[in-house]
Amino acid sequence: MMARRAWRTPVALSVFLVPACAWCQGDGLRAGVARVDITPSQPCMLSGYASRTNLSTGVHDPLSARAVAFEHGGHRVVLVSSDIIGFYGDMAEHMRARITAACGLRPDELVLTAIHTHAAPTLTLEEGKLHPNNLKYTKVLRERLIAACQAAITNLRPARIRFGSGASPVGVNRREPYLDKAGNTQIRLGRNPAIPIDTEVQVLEIREIAGDRMTSALFAYATHSTSLGAKNLVVSGDVHGLAEQFVERHLGSGVIAAAFAGASGNVDPWFRVLPGIKTENDWMPEPVLLGTMLGEEVVHTLGRTHDLGGDGPVASLIKTVELPAKTEPEKPPGAPTVPLTISVARVGDVAIVGLGAEVFNEIGRAIKDRSPFPHTMVVTHCNGGAGYLVLREAYAQGGYEVKTSPFAPEAAERVLRDIDGMLAQLKE
Ligand SMILES: [Zn+2]
Repeated sequence: MMARRAWRTPVALSVFLVPACAWCQGDGLRAGVARVDITPSQPCMLSGYASRTNLSTGVHDPLSARAVAFEHGGHRVVLVSSDIIGFYGDMAEHMRARITAACGLRPDELVLTAIHTHAAPTLTLEEGKLHPNNLKYTKVLRERLIAACQAAITNLRPARIRFGSGASPVGVNRREPYLDKAGNTQIRLGRNPAIPIDTEVQVLEIREIAGDRMTSALFAYATHSTSLGAKNLVVSGDVHGLAEQFVERHLGSGVIAAAFAGASGNVDPWFRVLPGIKTENDWMPEPVLLGTMLGEEVVHTLGRTHDLGGDGPVASLIKTVELPAKTEPEKPPGAPTVPLTISVARVGDVAIVGLGAEVFNEIGRAIKDRSPFPHTMVVTHCNGGAGYLVLREAYAQGGYEVKTSPFAPEAAERVLRDIDGMLAQLKE
């Protein structure tokens, strides 16, 4: 541990003048937070709907990346919330490698997530793929993510945390049953309020000890950020992004509100644009309504948090598990396994479980229920994007998530067992 601190010391000679570990004096928890703008400055292809082939036509509300760093006892963890759709394919590893190298972080110390808005640019680093503006955007994003993490680390100050739990009706199970022409029940993307979902709004409040000042509110809520549909060509953070903006404006004083998408693989916002998007005079009622509702609940919950102290510990683990791949009779067999990245971190009594996938809501609830920690935040689109992690029972019903999932029905149970083991290790 001392060696690690020394390695981080920028000027080795200072060891004779000041304690070698001048910035980690004291035993307490330290936290730092930063926000950077990641709104595209030029028209881009937006991500999330294959049917959409035109460039964006404007910006409804700004996109940001928000980084929160925690440090205790020589361990760090940096959580990043980005107002984009996610990091797919090689993009997660690429961005993670650049950020960890620039910030002197171990791979497990970075929890890189996205809120899954479908109204932000598609990322690419391939010349000639998509529009040149998307390539330019991705390079700028990379620098800004690094800047956000560096600033959060620079801003580390003695802090304590508080935790609160609220609830919101903004999301709803989206697997709507209907009868096809042959009279068989099928599942389509729609609304199925008959299936109860985990509606918890989890809030982790950070307070700087000096002045007892709130610096940040992290919140996790399980819904797709897709109240803007496939016809939308205007940049927006959608539900989670607008909720962040609401909380920041409402609280003022420089408080940074970072959103995380909970287990929302089968959860959509209650309203999607009806029947098509109308953006005259910037009029976008559905995402503003739902983002405001979610943000209101975050503010409400911040009034009811309880103190968890400022003693740490901080710890983290990351691993890539090989999960059984789905086999389909009509398709030639592919690789037998599909990788999924799982990250776990703890800050005091709060555990954060990050999955590089779109996870069914019931699986997120199971992670929370099984966790040995008093509070467990489930965050998805985290350190990668492997596709839908589906509940075993859903395979017989079919539907979009089942059709597109790369995983076999037993994958979710395997993931739960892996997370059990990782959380137990963090508890030690
Ligand atoms: Zn999705």
